[in-house]
Amino acid sequence: MKFYINSRNKYIEVFGEGKEGIIIFPTWVPGSYVIRDTERYIVEMEGIRIGKNRFFVKDKFRYLIQALSKDQREAISTSDYLFINPPSVFPFQTIEEEYCVKINTTWPIHTTLKKVEDWFCADNYNEFADSPIQASPKLKLIEIAKKHKISTIDELDKSFIESLGKCIFEIDQKIFSNSSTDEYIFFFRRSDTDFGGIEHERSSSIVVSWNYKDLIRLFIHEYFHRYNVKKIKPKDLRINYEDETYTELLWVAEGLTEYIAVIVPLRTRVVKVEETLNYIANTLAWLTFPGTKRMSLAESSYTTWIKYYRRDNNFLNVGISYYQLGLIVGLIMDLEMIENGNSIYDFFRELYKLGEYTYDNVRDIAERLGVRNLDELVFSRDPPIFNRLSRYFELSFVDKGSPYCGLMLDNKKVTFVEDDSPADKAGIIQGDEIIGINGVSSNNLNLECQVTLALVINREGRLMEFTITPSENPGHNVVIKGNGEIFKKWSEGIEYGEGKSNIRII
Ligand SMILES: [Zn+2]
Repeated sequence: MKFYINSRNKYIEVFGEGKEGIIIFPTWVPGSYVIRDTERYIVEMEGIRIGKNRFFVKDKFRYLIQALSKDQREAISTSDYLFINPPSVFPFQTIEEEYCVKINTTWPIHTTLKKVEDWFCADNYNEFADSPIQASPKLKLIEIAKKHKISTIDELDKSFIESLGKCIFEIDQKIFSNSSTDEYIFFFRRSDTDFGGIEHERSSSIVVSWNYKDLIRLFIHEYFHRYNVKKIKPKDLRINYEDETYTELLWVAEGLTEYIAVIVPLRTRVVKVEETLNYIANTLAWLTFPGTKRMSLAESSYTTWIKYYRRDNNFLNVGISYYQLGLIVGLIMDLEMIENGNSIYDFFRELYKLGEYTYDNVRDIAERLGVRNLDELVFSRDPPIFNRLSRYFELSFVDKGSPYCGLMLDNKKVTFVEDDSPADKAGIIQGDEIIGINGVSSNNLNLECQVTLALVINREGRLMEFTITPSENPGHNVVIKGNGEIFKKWSEGIEYGEGKSNIRII
């Protein structure tokens, strides 16, 4: 199929050409597990609707699609900027045919699609859908290394570019021995309303807030997906553009990628050991809530469409993130492998040889390289992560036993209530607004939980009174200290490091 497009403010006008017949707009976009129904953005269509996301069209047809999403998985078109993630804008007829797009603009255009005269083309829809397009009169291409570039309308520090280059070198050379030679583009944009990244085989799209500090981890996470997810993937993670697809292995695809994004910047000395250990301590702290006892790592992968991607502010009580627990399992795997003279780099090299993998492959490789019992980490609810880690790190809970209510707050709003905590027993729920404490109105709230609290709460406009009697904190904030021989090997030469979490729960 061919698409000729005019980019307008808020909309993209598309002239399509294919065979007379059915066109299908994808229901979801690969790389994120949520039904997007991008067809909802269509505002004009020359064709007969025959379903939610299907139309019958002539060999030539026109449609107008809204493009106002700041999400890097969708599309935005303004008077000076165009970004398209193709499956959110273009339909398909058959997967195995050539797809080409031509953009009616004089702006610079960046994409990994092949240039064929004035057209940008892919051999099939999967490749087309995996190749974003960015254009703007302000667009520039920043070179990181010969084959790695950043396409952006924003600025990035020189020191950041150098750091990124070091991390990319570590991944390409030390883990995968230069097996990928294609060019690679990071599509990067600052946004004060959106945050996230999405991987493609030859690029990634990253949108981050202006004050976001931890850029390197996000860039490395997306870059590592070039291998882990794009070249190495769970056997059951099949793309079906109109349906959900399930696997119990997203913790390998995402969680272990997150681990690599934490460890590579440490080993290249781009990030200090304290920062790395602070991040690990925070990740551990998020795993001290009741959700860890209720959902295994494999379950969290299976249920992502209905739980993780649709989580609400009770999520810490009901489930875990396979990014967070996956990161910690990656850390445990790496340490146990290092103790046996191997490392997680060897694990990924072995997985790379397989391409597609099952859980049995993952367990066999991991246990061959030194991991003791992977099943208990992956399939247990409440897996023994602290126990397994304490062999290598000194871990302690700094807030354990201190007076505790079990509340998280955003100013006066309750954002989380831990199950079975004093606040839960008192009857507080998420969304409650605290307007009075012990007879005093709460304007600037700095709630402490030291003594019994008599609270006046606004719930749905109704005033209610509750009394919270503090009990002992079960322990959420973690201090992690590392030293010794295995720590030194893990950090590649550091003698001692310490980090601590900073979760604010009272
Ligand atoms: Zn990811």
